[in-house]
Amino acid sequence: MDNSYFCRDQLKVLAAGFGVMLDETALDRFAVYAQKLVDWNEKINLTAITDPEGITVKHFADSLAVFQYADIPQNAKVIDVGTGAGFPGVALLIARPDLKLTLLDSTKKKLTVIEDILSALGLQAETLHARAEEAAKRAEYREQFDFATARAVANLRELSEYCLPFVRKGGRFISMKSAKTDEEIDGAKKAIAVLGGKIEAVNAFSLADAGERTVIMMKKISQTSPKYPRPSAKIAKYPLA
Ligand code: SAM
Repeated sequence: MDNSYFCRDQLKVLAAGFGVMLDETALDRFAVYAQKLVDWNEKINLTAITDPEGITVKHFADSLAVFQYADIPQNAKVIDVGTGAGFPGVALLIARPDLKLTLLDSTKKKLTVIEDILSALGLQAETLHARAEEAAKRAEYREQFDFATARAVANLRELSEYCLPFVRKGGRFISMKSAKTDEEIDGAKKAIAVLGGKIEAVNAFSLADAGERTVIMMKKISQTSPKYPRPSAKIAKYPLA
């Protein structure tokens, strides 16, 4: 096992701090994931973070921080919207291979990378090449998930319109943000209510020495009107504010 692409012990400690006990199989998988990220990044632009400590803290641990705040039951259905190189989705799956995970992105080549990574990890997940606002109109995805996650995809108001329609009533949307979010949350409150969501908690924490992070938890309290999500141009032009 080549551990030179990430910091194995550091990840174990950081994950334990989030209540996640990574076993040797999971740590081996993170080692493979880190190597694949660096290799693929030479061919296509996936991430600006490629140093071992950056991958460990800013990608892997940051993704696993979700478990601090979300109690995700066995076999839960999770969709990671705008997954890119697999964050947080693939990291969550390594820690919890029982999850029924869908990895959605509008960029086909990123999903090609994800499929190669999943195959190297020996893990199963559905990859879905679509724009979120289109996939959420399809019956097989609409209100079918216990959880939706998204990190670094869009402003919270737009993101809520992309993500809340995937979540079943009683399920949750977890939005992962790096910067301070008060204004962004204020600007999204009306949209969240219109889409059937409710903010349950805004959890701020420090991620090792990588700065502040915020995990926003929303609960789906009523069905989303079939009017939503709208096409992305409309979402941008007519904000739900
Ligand atoms: N979540 C990953 C992370 O945190 O590293 C990737 C973040 S990257 C900045 C944003 C990703 O969202 C890109 O891969 C992009 O293709 C995808 N994306 C943006 N808008 C989208 C949409 N409307 N539907 C599906 N994917 C979208």
